[in-house]
Amino acid sequence: MKVTDHITKAKGKTLASFEILPPLKGKNFQSIVEVLDPLMDFNPPFINVTYHRAETQFKKMPDGRFDEVAVRKRPGTVGICAAIMNRYKVDAVPHLICGGFTIEETEDALIDLDFLGVENILCLRGDAMHGQTAFYPEKGGHAHAIDLLKQAVKMNHGEYLENDIKNPVSTNFCLGVAGYPEKHAEAPNMIADMKHLKDKVDAGASFIVTQMFFDNQKYFDFVKICRESGIHVPIIPGLKPLTTIKQLTSLPRTFNINLPQDLVQSIQKVQHDEAAVMQAGIEWCVQQSKELMKSGVPVLHYYTMSNVKAIKTIAKQVF
Ligand code: FAD
Repeated sequence: MKVTDHITKAKGKTLASFEILPPLKGKNFQSIVEVLDPLMDFNPPFINVTYHRAETQFKKMPDGRFDEVAVRKRPGTVGICAAIMNRYKVDAVPHLICGGFTIEETEDALIDLDFLGVENILCLRGDAMHGQTAFYPEKGGHAHAIDLLKQAVKMNHGEYLENDIKNPVSTNFCLGVAGYPEKHAEAPNMIADMKHLKDKVDAGASFIVTQMFFDNQKYFDFVKICRESGIHVPIIPGLKPLTTIKQLTSLPRTFNINLPQDLVQSIQKVQHDEAAVMQAGIEWCVQQSKELMKSGVPVLHYYTMSNVKAIKTIAKQVF
């Protein structure tokens, strides 16, 4: 079922959804089961699975030389989605990115997803590769999420890359995109970022999932600007608990977000006690979740980042 249909069917009740990462190469589906089994108590109608492109690394060769090789540490997004749907009978939302894909490879991935019965896709650009200062598309690939989205929309209209296919079947994907309550890092300002988001919705995106945020006011303001800009699709808030002292600096740097001073102080107060830091982060996320739920958000979407214990503790207090 489509994400938008799940939201309609819930008739205003806030749903829980979770985002997982494929495990590191060398692990099997059991590691996904260990993350998802405890979260199934909260009846998530869909589970998102992130996509991770290959990164280039220098590896020491047997003759002592260092060669640049492409390494994919977390492969398996498409297979994991199929396995989740099969085991848990819930929908899976694979993330598909522009980075590392030619348009032909994107079409193949979309065809695979259609064959597997995947109905929802989050269309993203992907970040710059490690060690690069800007995002570079693959030669013959898409430069922006909107271009990937448009390709999927065309397939929903039965248009494939070759225009001589006889009686092409239309896919039926429900397509989502990312939104940034605190602005995307590369956008010159919120107005420019909002224009690109509106373009994605006008091109066929049916829902938005936000970047994580720790100050609900940022989400409420973002939704207000979206609505004023003519964006009327569901805007699903993405939440992550702060669980380690290191994240006080790593989260703002990685995700271009601000941490409210009250949260920072509550973490710093207990900074030498790991369990207390996690507890403070969990309490903050519970409060955020409850306020968002009260405001009528359609879904609370939790970035698990494989920290199932913290997410389960939060969901237990919210749902
Ligand atoms: P875009 O929509 O292309 O926007 C990127 C930047 O370009 C923005 O500044 C925007 O304002 C600007 N822009 C957009 N369109 C145009 C245009 N036509 N011309 C000029 N400028 C334009 N990354 C992964 O690698 N794998 C994942 O699984 C993944 N999941 C994510 C899930 C969520 C909910 C979020 C919020 C992010 C996720 N990311 C993931 C990270 C994401 O790929 C990065 O944030 C990336 O830098 C931007 O992706 P986007 O889809 O927003 O790109």
